[in-house]
Amino acid sequence: MLPKMHKYQHLQHDGNFIDLPVGKAVCIGQNYQDHIAEMNSITAPEALFFIKPSTAICAMTPYISIPHNQGAVHNEIEVAVLIKSELKNANSHQVAAAIWGYSLALDLTLRDRQAALKQQGRPWELAKGFDNACPVAGFIASNKISQPQQLKFALKVNGQVRQSGDARHMIRSITTVISEMSQHFTLLPGDIVLTGTPAGVGPLHSGDQLEVQFDNFFTLQSQVN
Ligand code: ZN
Repeated sequence: MLPKMHKYQHLQHDGNFIDLPVGKAVCIGQNYQDHIAEMNSITAPEALFFIKPSTAICAMTPYISIPHNQGAVHNEIEVAVLIKSELKNANSHQVAAAIWGYSLALDLTLRDRQAALKQQGRPWELAKGFDNACPVAGFIASNKISQPQQLKFALKVNGQVRQSGDARHMIRSITTVISEMSQHFTLLPGDIVLTGTPAGVGPLHSGDQLEVQFDNFFTLQSQVN
């Protein structure tokens, strides 16, 4: 059965459907030193995890919709991992066996709102969990990516490189992130994991042209609505 047009479904990069439900997005904050520095944050020993609901997940093309009149909306381009089987208290071997594939996602963030929430000691959902806060590109199957911890990726805004990432620079590896997450939150088939953003976050505006590059696997164009 084809999904309704407005409804997101996980896709392969070639456009084929992936037979997994759409679950939650479990994310790590502060997983690259250069982003921690640009946010004037401090590296904490304990990982910073947060969740975006399934209603935040949407396609990255042909356009992304951002909230208006809620202050700055920042880009955070991140390696996304699609989970195909349940993970609870998982070790690295179990994590590796449960990965369907990899892609890129945007962890869209209402930065002004997040700053206010941080100051008040409140949780981040209003800044990161809104509808369409997690645009995701099509996934590349894990058997096509021999060294996921060496993936390079980039985001251009209006032709200028804004973020340029290399998974080698993650503080916690992809496997470690997922294993640690699974100590707290059971990951289910169809969940995705966002592995943190490198430096270069900044405001997006309606009409911005985006170009997203995922190593040698794909480059895609999108637009901000
Ligand atoms: Zn992020």
